[in-house]
Parts: sequence; structure tokens; C-alpha cells
Amino acid sequence: MLNSQIDTGSGGFIVWSMKREDFIKVVGEAMDSLPKQFRCRIRNVAVLVKDLPTDQAPPEHGQPKRLLLGLFHGVPMTQKSVFHLPSGPDHIVLYQKNIEAICSNEAEVREQIRRTFLHELGHYFGMTEEQLRGA
Ligand SMILES: [Zn+2]
Repeated sequence: MLNSQIDTGSGGFIVWSMKREDFIKVVGEAMDSLPKQFRCRIRNVAVLVKDLPTDQAPPEHGQPKRLLLGLFHGVPMTQKSVFHLPSGPDHIVLYQKNIEAICSNEAEVREQIRRTFLHELGHYFGMTEEQLRGA
């Protein structure tokens, strides 16, 4: 899970939104930029892009708020064993509107997509929140 704080000092209203296909393309580029030894270890992970978590109201500007940017669903690779029952493909969800809400331009959004995706991928590789925060 990756949360972030809206910066109320410099935050303005978001008047634009990246096209979903462009958003997904940035995720693909982040994936392509991974070192080969990581890429070939990624198996059965789907990446989904959603607007918002189902129980969250649209983000508002002007109030500090913790926003969920992404989430990893599944069993970290390090905890899988031959006895593990299949529970469907692992997946990473990225929340587009929350990512956009904490960024003020497209370059920032692209960087944030990349960071969020790599963070959630870290969970797939079995890293803890603490390890990822220090990375
Ligand atoms: Zn996390």
C-alpha cells in the first residue's frame, strides 16, 4: 500500500486528467525499464488501473488527506510454496484519480505512476512497507 499526502501549499485544482491509455502506457514503460533479471521473475501479475478505491469519495483539494495510490493483491513471491492454494492471479491496482490529485503536471504524474508501480511490485517481491520506504 502506498499513501501520499496532498500538499496543500502548492496544490491547485486538477483541471485535466490523463487519458487512460496514456496512463497504462506509462506503466508499460516503467515495466520495460526494469532490469531484465526482475522482469523475467514477474509471473502472473496483472496491472489494473482504476479511478478510485471503491469506498473512497473523489479526492478534494485544500485539505490534507491520505490517499491510496496503489495496492498489491496477492501473495508475495517469498511466501509462496508448493502447498499454496491458487487464489487467482496476483494483481497490482493503481488509482489514477488519486495519483493525479497529488501531482500538478503530467511529468509529475508520469513519475508518480512509475514510483507507485515499482512500490507495489516491491511487495510482489516480498518487500515490507519499511524496506520500500527506505528504498
Ligand atoms: Zn505499500
